[in-house]
Amino acid sequence: MDLLKGKTAVVTGGTRGIGLAIVKKFLANGAKVALLGSRQETVDKALAGLKEENSNYPVIGLCPALSNPEQVHEAFQKVKEAFGSLDILVNNAGVSARDSIYQYKPEDFAKVMDLNVNSVFVCSREAAGIMKEQGGGVILNTSSMVSIYGQPAGCAYPASKFAVNGMTKSLAREMGRDNIRVNAVAPGVTRTDMVAALPEEMVKRITAPIPLGRMGEPEEVADAFLFLASDMASYITGVTLSVDGAAMV
Ligand code: NAD
Repeated sequence: MDLLKGKTAVVTGGTRGIGLAIVKKFLANGAKVALLGSRQETVDKALAGLKEENSNYPVIGLCPALSNPEQVHEAFQKVKEAFGSLDILVNNAGVSARDSIYQYKPEDFAKVMDLNVNSVFVCSREAAGIMKEQGGGVILNTSSMVSIYGQPAGCAYPASKFAVNGMTKSLAREMGRDNIRVNAVAPGVTRTDMVAALPEEMVKRITAPIPLGRMGEPEEVADAFLFLASDMASYITGVTLSVDGAAMV
């Protein structure tokens, strides 16, 4: 399929997990992709893996600090220089933590908010200017099932994802007239490295109450991003699409 032919996408947190699955799905659908990671080393590793799959993939990697406006500006300019445009931004990088409120250090709360919320704002703001000038674009955010139900520890993470949903809805309303669509995908328990490392027993306990009876695969989450990034979703904006097997945490 060539659903994104001729489009350029930036995917933050694109070095592994859900982000890397999105990068692969976008490349396989004809997009040019810039994957952003936290360290040069992990960016290089991801690029090497992709080039091994297909040496002709139009993909580059960068590692700006995502909540730093100057570094993000510079990185997005490099993407424009390399590929000529910026049509799709996927704000996917995120961190989770399960600290109890009784011990939660303000600096740890701030760290989660800095990546999960501030960087979504900074990257969206930078992309918005470019997309408006270009005549349109798509911004997609990775939310989470905890943005609907909360979670019984680590309040920063669900709070950050509630904020992501709020930003999604608000920016969709603000930028619709500029032909910029803004949507989010809210994954449930997804088989990334972190989950794959859990003991079998714990995985069983986590997946037992999920109506579809299993966790999701990163590729299934990436399919939702592909749909929302493509023209198949041309009249969809401001939604948070759950991809969670109807799980309720
Ligand atoms: P992961 O830990 O496998 O990957 C996280 C990605 O974010 C990596 O590419 C990493 O380089 C990047 N990243 C981490 N810290 C960063 C920083 N400070 N600056 C820049 N990049 C940084 O995680 P994942 O499970 O693939 O999660 C991706 C997104 O999906 C996150 O937003 C997460 O909240 C969300 N999510 C995951 C699940 C799940 O079950 N895995 C469920 C719901 C939502």
